[in-house]
Amino acid sequence: MTDTMRAIRYLGPAQDFQLRAVAIPQPAPGQVRVRIAACGMCRTELHLRDGLLDLGARDFTVGHEIAGTIEKLGEGVSPIRLGERVLIYYYEGCGDCRYCRSGDQQLCPQPKSQPGFTTDGGYAEYVVVRAQNCVKVPDAVPLAHIAPMGCAGSTAVHAGKMARIVPGEWVVVHGLGGVGLALMQYAKSAGGRVIAVDLGVEKLALAEKLGADAAIDAATEADIPAKIAAVTGEGADVVFELVGTTETMRRSAAMLRRRGRMVMIGYTSQNFEIHPVELIVRELTVMGSVGSTLQDLHDIVDLVAAGVITPIIDRVIPLESFAEGLEAVEGQATLGRIVLTMA
Ligand SMILES: [Zn+2]
Ligand SMILES: [Zn+2]
Repeated sequence: MTDTMRAIRYLGPAQDFQLRAVAIPQPAPGQVRVRIAACGMCRTELHLRDGLLDLGARDFTVGHEIAGTIEKLGEGVSPIRLGERVLIYYYEGCGDCRYCRSGDQQLCPQPKSQPGFTTDGGYAEYVVVRAQNCVKVPDAVPLAHIAPMGCAGSTAVHAGKMARIVPGEWVVVHGLGGVGLALMQYAKSAGGRVIAVDLGVEKLALAEKLGADAAIDAATEADIPAKIAAVTGEGADVVFELVGTTETMRRSAAMLRRRGRMVMIGYTSQNFEIHPVELIVRELTVMGSVGSTLQDLHDIVDLVAAGVITPIIDRVIPLESFAEGLEAVEGQATLGRIVLTMA
């Protein structure tokens, strides 16, 4: 084995990602080294490149939907974990703050590391992470299949829990990317009646195949809130906003019934604009949902293994085709996630 590996590096905002040879990392006590099999592509990489998300770190390996096999153990890690197939949780909280104490590492103000966001992530052949951040994947689930659930699936589970969906509620999923497609399935499994909204017949046909009770094509439907009101009787109980333009956010708020809940997940450079009276007289709730807890990641692995949620994969391509993949993600010309493999 050589002592370097291939990795896609983020150098800073407004700079192109670079494929480089970097040192293969060694696990410290409590850590493991994972030989990466697959890593899903998320819009976060575009947000980093565009400077929309800047956590201050530079020159690290991107990619945070990481699946692979534990192949080297740091001191103190149980030998039983050697060879385990795993999906990686990408927050390593401080462990001491009020958020970490209650399991919300995604809110930790001083995380130790965030693979793919501030420290080395998964568009590489190996990654080193804390042992408890590695969630065991059952043998029947292929690693390239589960990889995108590391962010898309766990984010969907977390947002679904944040919304506290009650059986029978009308749930709009506004934007059918990787998170939206998983969220639709989660909302169905929670007893929600799901309305999918996006552009294009292909995505909406897929939504219906995945169990959507109604699918609305934003390319052809002139008044989407009116259409939602017609389907639901008054409006949606919950809207998940996954697009994040001024237009779609305004539209999401307009889809809600009185006392409806809007959950913000997707974002762009644009602002959410609403007059407070809209929130006040209809008693609307607007909340954000970011990433997931470690438990949410365990839950998504269980849900996929049980066949409750099916990961939707657009295509699987080699690491070297990263630029092609990023272009497709940017052009929104994908049906589900693109997954990079390291083979
Ligand atoms: Zn992500
Ligand atoms: Zn913390």
